[in-house]
Amino acid sequence: MARYTGSICRYCRRESIKLFLKGTRCLTDKCAVERRNYIPGQHGQKKTRRRISEYSRQLREKQKLKRIYGLLERQFVFTFEKAERLKGMTGDNLVSLLERRLDNVTYRLGLATSRKAARQLVNHGHIMVNSKKVDIPSFLVKTDDVIEVRLRSRENVAIKASVESVESRGIPPWLEWDHTHLKGAVRGLPTKEDAAIPVDEQLVVVLYSR
Ligand code: SF4
Repeated sequence: MARYTGSICRYCRRESIKLFLKGTRCLTDKCAVERRNYIPGQHGQKKTRRRISEYSRQLREKQKLKRIYGLLERQFVFTFEKAERLKGMTGDNLVSLLERRLDNVTYRLGLATSRKAARQLVNHGHIMVNSKKVDIPSFLVKTDDVIEVRLRSRENVAIKASVESVESRGIPPWLEWDHTHLKGAVRGLPTKEDAAIPVDEQLVVVLYSR
């Protein structure tokens, strides 16, 4: 399935919550959820929200999770299957695997203002893990990995601006950040609580267990 190229704000409006897909714009009053908090489409404003079925709730939670991390269905299912094979609760494993993606870690460290922008940084070879260039957004970090910006990319204007603005969202406790050297490290594997995302991942597990 092709990646959707229209306004990604529709995704937030569809769920009636901010999924923070557009970087700094999401923090301003230009945010579409702040301005037009109704379902997109011709009749969105008129529609009264009907009681939704259990299946629809599960589907919506899955869509939210997929869209927060910017994954296509195929990539998402692949991650879910991996989560199922790991020890422990599949839902917790799923969120942990999504958080450990290098594009997400790049975003969480404040090197980009959105996961989409972070994915581009990784794709373009600006990020190193343990002193080696890694240009695979789905690369999974592990405890004690060191993530840093390549020397030649340290003057990148977008990276510098993002790093300056990260204080507003903070660095999660499972990561640490050395501002002077633009270098981060993984202290431990992330939990569902660390991810702090507005999704009930258990409903996603039920959906895929049907
Ligand atoms: Fe969602 Fe950000 Fe668009 Fe607001 S500005 S609707 S949070 S993507």
